[in-house]
Amino acid sequence: AVVALGGRGGRGNSHYATPTRQVPRFAEKGEPGEGRELRLELKLLADVGLIGLPNAGKSTLLSRVSAATPKIADYPFTTLEPQLGVVGIDDHSFVMADLPGLIEGASTGRGKGIDFLRHAERSRVLLHVVDVSGGFSGEIEPWEAFETINREIALYGTGLERLPMLVALNKVDVPTSEILLPDMVQNLERAGYRYFPISAVTGQGIDQLLRAIDAILTAQDAAVETTEREAPTRMIVPRVRREMEIQLIDEGLWEITGSGVERLLAMTDMASEEGVERLQRTLDRMGVFQALRERGVKEGDKVRIRGIELEFSD
Ligand code: GDP
Repeated sequence: AVVALGGRGGRGNSHYATPTRQVPRFAEKGEPGEGRELRLELKLLADVGLIGLPNAGKSTLLSRVSAATPKIADYPFTTLEPQLGVVGIDDHSFVMADLPGLIEGASTGRGKGIDFLRHAERSRVLLHVVDVSGGFSGEIEPWEAFETINREIALYGTGLERLPMLVALNKVDVPTSEILLPDMVQNLERAGYRYFPISAVTGQGIDQLLRAIDAILTAQDAAVETTEREAPTRMIVPRVRREMEIQLIDEGLWEITGSGVERLLAMTDMASEEGVERLQRTLDRMGVFQALRERGVKEGDKVRIRGIELEFSD
């Protein structure tokens, strides 16, 4: 991507040759390159994005299936930065990222979740981890937890909800999960989700889950290979054109800003008489003198353009 164009080179003196002035001692200076201040945002590239309410067991799962060492704690909001891990299954591998901090209202900026949702945009598969043991305090109903997160990702508005999603029903090693599991499974089946009862602690059900993820990624790879890959595009961020503006900044001192005039000044060789003459003519043609007269410029006033002061004289 070209975000700041270099300026075109100035025209050499031969360009200004005329029958009566065959070797002008005048050349245009090069146009200054564009300057631009950019704020770049790095989005994680993970194949699989882990989503779910805090405490669902996302970090535990990631540390179990990869060498990542996320912080795991017994209370919500433990992980404050996205964690990446490489997961190996059979002889394949993929990258899994924990996108923590999703809570109700995350899509509108509550908590840290919105930062992590941005990373989720680059995922190819979402793995939704739901605590089916009843939650930390035993009061979070799994289906409710599941829907809360789904609402947040849909509200976020970048089409995250259209990514393939698998559901990990976590903490099946906890006895209370037997009470909550049947309803949850029924709801998921009705809604058409693929789900995997697992325990991130004992490892139960995890291999099956990883194989299912791998199968989806492999199928996506195959689809990409058969459709023609797009040629990289050359993207040029358009120039920002500033209109000409004249300001009286002090008694007898004017300042003119604007892309056109500033460029003209930058390209003028002020040491050359012919260059300055040409500057005069061009400023006149651009209507700069007329505009100054309309604003009430007086003989002898200073006119500053791009840090260069000129004296106005009719
Ligand atoms: P996260 O906020 O989703 O990343 O959740 P964590 O991975 O930090 O886990 C929250 C709590 O649940 C921790 O105390 C974990 O030890 C516990 N936990 C996670 N997975 C399991 C599981 O499969 N079984 C049990 N019994 N506890 C789990």
